[in-house]
Amino acid sequence: MAKDEALFFKPIFKDRIWGGNVLKDMYGDHVPAGSIGEAWIVSAVPGSESVVASGRHAGRTLADLYKTDRELFPRAVGDFPLLTKILDAGDRLSVQVHPDDAYARLHERQAGKTECWYILKAEPGATLVIGHTAKTRDELKAAVAAGTLEALLVQIPVQAGDFVYIPAGTLHAIGKGIVLLENQQTSDVTYRIYDYDRVDALGHHRELHLEKGLDVTDVPAKPANIRHFAKSTDVETMVEAPAFTVKKLVVDNSFHFVNRIGRWYVVSVVAGQGTFNGHPIAYGDAFVIPANVGKIDIKGRCELVFAFVPEGQS
Ligand code: ZN
Repeated sequence: MAKDEALFFKPIFKDRIWGGNVLKDMYGDHVPAGSIGEAWIVSAVPGSESVVASGRHAGRTLADLYKTDRELFPRAVGDFPLLTKILDAGDRLSVQVHPDDAYARLHERQAGKTECWYILKAEPGATLVIGHTAKTRDELKAAVAAGTLEALLVQIPVQAGDFVYIPAGTLHAIGKGIVLLENQQTSDVTYRIYDYDRVDALGHHRELHLEKGLDVTDVPAKPANIRHFAKSTDVETMVEAPAFTVKKLVVDNSFHFVNRIGRWYVVSVVAGQGTFNGHPIAYGDAFVIPANVGKIDIKGRCELVFAFVPEGQS
């Protein structure tokens, strides 16, 4: 593999009850028919593993390279820790919560899930649910039991360029008319607390996980952690958290850096187009820069979101 080669993947699409039409505009003919709500653009989740699309490692999965290739991932321990998706909410998503690592390891034998969202598009008036107004766990439980949880949910209006950090324990939901980039810990553990009494095409409700969900939800809720980055320049830190750091880079003509520390990054193109070390990149693309890529040369006019894990977890 050339020393300057990033790992590019094709998205993995997921049918969802709440899916919209935006992913078809972003990814064209690659998108299957149906109600497609998610594109998993960088994934090592078993059964949904990103496959390298070109270059020396074409055909290998990211999960496998992470486990076996110390040139690309010199300090890898365990499974690839990040999962990156584009979500298109044609309808609102369920109200849910994720456990932290300690709870998830004990009860689910997986990592917990902290996630973060960068809003790509939002219809006027679109909102996220972030937190609730219950003062005690009993108040929250009573509202869930009585079917009145909606009255306690904190609705926050959002617009393109907003960044939201959702630590484990935060009750949350994505509202209708929102397209976002999600970076999160690799984990499948979601506790669904409320689904608006919605049924699928066969008339089935989706499963709720009330006991565990109410166990892990922060009470009282922490204030929403949201900041606006639409007019950012150069490099700005969106969040520096125990599970990951996320930064936004705005490229205006060209940007170079030398990856001296041998870190790896998950990169998502959130606007514009250009080239990365000569490889074309455009809105909706995602790739991994392995640790053996020393020189990074980005050209064009584009905005990129970099996600990486702290030293010692990489
Ligand atoms: Zn979630």
